[in-house]
Amino acid sequence: MKKILKIALPDAPIKPYFDYLLPEHLKANPLPGVRIIVPFGRQKKIGFLIEINHQSEIPAHKLKPIISIIDEKPIFKPSFMRLILWASQYYHYPLGEVIKNSLPKKIKSGEKIEQKYYIYQYVEKKNKSQLSKNQKALLAYLEKHPKGLDEAALQAIGFQKRTLSTLEQKGNLVKIEKKQKLKEPTLGNNPSPLTLNTEQKAALNAIQENKGFQTFLLDGITGSGKTEVYLQAIKPLIQEKKQVLILVPEINLTPQTIQRFQKRFPHKMAVFHSKCSEQEKLENWKEIYNGKALIIIGTRSALFAPLKKPGMIILDEEHDLSFKQQSSFRYSARDLAIVRGKIENIPVILGSATPSLESFQNVALKKFRHLQLNKRSNLKPLPRFYLINIKDKKLNAGISPILLEKIESHLKNNNQVLIFLNRRGFSPILLCHSCGWVAYCQNCDAKMVWHHNPKRLFCHYCGFNQKKPNECPSCQDLTLLSLGSGTERLEAVLSKHFSGFPVIRVDKDSTRLKGSMENILEKIKTGKGQILVGTQMLAKGHHFPNLTMVAILEGDSALYSANFKAGELMGQLITQVAGRAGREDKLGEVYIQTHQPNHPWLETLVQKGYRAFAQQLMKEREIIGFPPFTYLAAIRAEARELNKALGFLNQVRQDLSQFNLNGIKISTAIPAWMEKKANAYRAILLIRSKKRALLHQCLKKFTEKNYKNSQQLRWFLEVDPIEIL
Ligand code: ADP
Ligand code: ZN
Ligand code: ZN
Repeated sequence: MKKILKIALPDAPIKPYFDYLLPEHLKANPLPGVRIIVPFGRQKKIGFLIEINHQSEIPAHKLKPIISIIDEKPIFKPSFMRLILWASQYYHYPLGEVIKNSLPKKIKSGEKIEQKYYIYQYVEKKNKSQLSKNQKALLAYLEKHPKGLDEAALQAIGFQKRTLSTLEQKGNLVKIEKKQKLKEPTLGNNPSPLTLNTEQKAALNAIQENKGFQTFLLDGITGSGKTEVYLQAIKPLIQEKKQVLILVPEINLTPQTIQRFQKRFPHKMAVFHSKCSEQEKLENWKEIYNGKALIIIGTRSALFAPLKKPGMIILDEEHDLSFKQQSSFRYSARDLAIVRGKIENIPVILGSATPSLESFQNVALKKFRHLQLNKRSNLKPLPRFYLINIKDKKLNAGISPILLEKIESHLKNNNQVLIFLNRRGFSPILLCHSCGWVAYCQNCDAKMVWHHNPKRLFCHYCGFNQKKPNECPSCQDLTLLSLGSGTERLEAVLSKHFSGFPVIRVDKDSTRLKGSMENILEKIKTGKGQILVGTQMLAKGHHFPNLTMVAILEGDSALYSANFKAGELMGQLITQVAGRAGREDKLGEVYIQTHQPNHPWLETLVQKGYRAFAQQLMKEREIIGFPPFTYLAAIRAEARELNKALGFLNQVRQDLSQFNLNGIKISTAIPAWMEKKANAYRAILLIRSKKRALLHQCLKKFTEKNYKNSQQLRWFLEVDPIEIL
């Protein structure tokens, strides 16, 4: 019977896989998970074998044979295959595209996965007489080097690769052993583990007593020593040569996390960061695939690391939105980490000082085990919070007079102060004083942001930038005012006001160059009286010993947002930034400027802390019927005209309502919060259900409709969106 190969193809999103024939002459028996070269139209494509069977919906005479098989060994283990099949179904995203997202470019383009360097070692001779002259010479040479030589060394003195491989094949005559050359492990100085406090010990015990799959929520306040728990939890696994996957939100921001793992374990690590070259990515991939890298640290996409012998998955700062991919394949690395843990039957640890509401809900439903660390590891108290009412107050670059006094007193005590403002650039508005004209982006519904370095207007949404006009384009008046503050203006104003104290700005602009973040962090660690001005880049994971005060300039910006997650994000951000203060001997203080000091969210957060705040939000979420109390999906459309986008979504709504799906709520199509972005008009349709299975039934109906995706109208489906604007 003819063998039919089901092959997933990247960049061919029409079908999950395509059927091909296995031609007789190949005499091969490929395993699922190998790469295969196939004809596709007039092109050749590299695809991935998913399954072999004997059936096809396409008549046999129309099926084309494959061209060749790249791998002997599958590049996907069966468990990995299950993961990507699951992801493709859950996110309703083409399998080929899911695969494309999960592999380094060089693997997709067909690069061999065997590692290049082998050591050839002469073992024993049986009968030399049938060997050629070259082969004899090679053998004699190997005999003289009993420790073995690698291919490159042999080639360097003139032996040909072909001689080597024929000799190798004549195993019945001679035996040469081909061993992989091991790279030297990077040796850390291997400091011994810290003595855990009672809470850490309890958490560690719970993790170590567990066998098989279980998700733990390690809910520990900032500085409570979560990382130490991770380090000790993975130790026995590493000793058994099992692999540990550690996912972090932004690797370049927290080089110290990597250093801590590196120092503790002298084993091979693979680190994925955004500045890795394609070659580095490939090397990492191979080291993981071959089971040599035991500790794998990376951001979101490292979730797809080809683990050979998985032992545990750790996801630090589980609440962080960067675990959600926001373009093309819109997956959540946190959710997929749990699925992967289940498939591999290994524990998954989610750590955070500010867990997401979804995770709290999973604890309530007993899906996750809750491990709490309520004390800072050095037993220092958490910082004290103060709200500053800025209603009617005169502000200087957004800073109230009281706040200036507080900053001054901390600086005078030789301490560091962090001023948090989540907006880069100099000023967010450029306004004509005479006619009220405002500089808008030509492609988006967004104001242009005035930057001083370089001196240009930038759109933060599409990247468009231009020179600042000399006069108002509308009335030709020469007075253009820059209103409001970004981090650049804060830096300038604070430098002037507190001359003598260095101001360090940390945002995407000041850290663009490779290594600049490391330099800045070093300066902050060793510095004393300094002002740090920064965006959320400064909120995450840093440990600054001399920082005693944190000021949040716009404490209520989230109170005006219509996104269902806005309150949660605000609480997380404030708590995380605040957690940078007073981590060592001196007590920390946190000041939050607000126009609404009596807002129930801020009050609870400040008086009772993040967990009470989260419980309060949870009740509100239940009332409004949003996740984690319902399951949510969004269909978004983008077109040259808003009506086209809305029209499409309304059509979808109508089509879906014909199925009479009880228990499904479909919203009307509405324009997105930023209606026009990068020259496209955007609209959104929300689908909600209390039952996950129902929601997915509905989404399946949607995908089965095969709506056209064209230049004029692009749509995409997002499961579990974190933004509904
Ligand atoms: P988290 O990850 O929860 O923010 P860290 O693991 O970074 O906390 O710990 C904060 C600091 O406390 C680090 O400097 C760490 O070395 C130290 N630390 C953690 N656990 C202990 C412990 N049991 N004894 C002493 N110091 C500890
Ligand atoms: Zn004007
Ligand atoms: Zn723009």
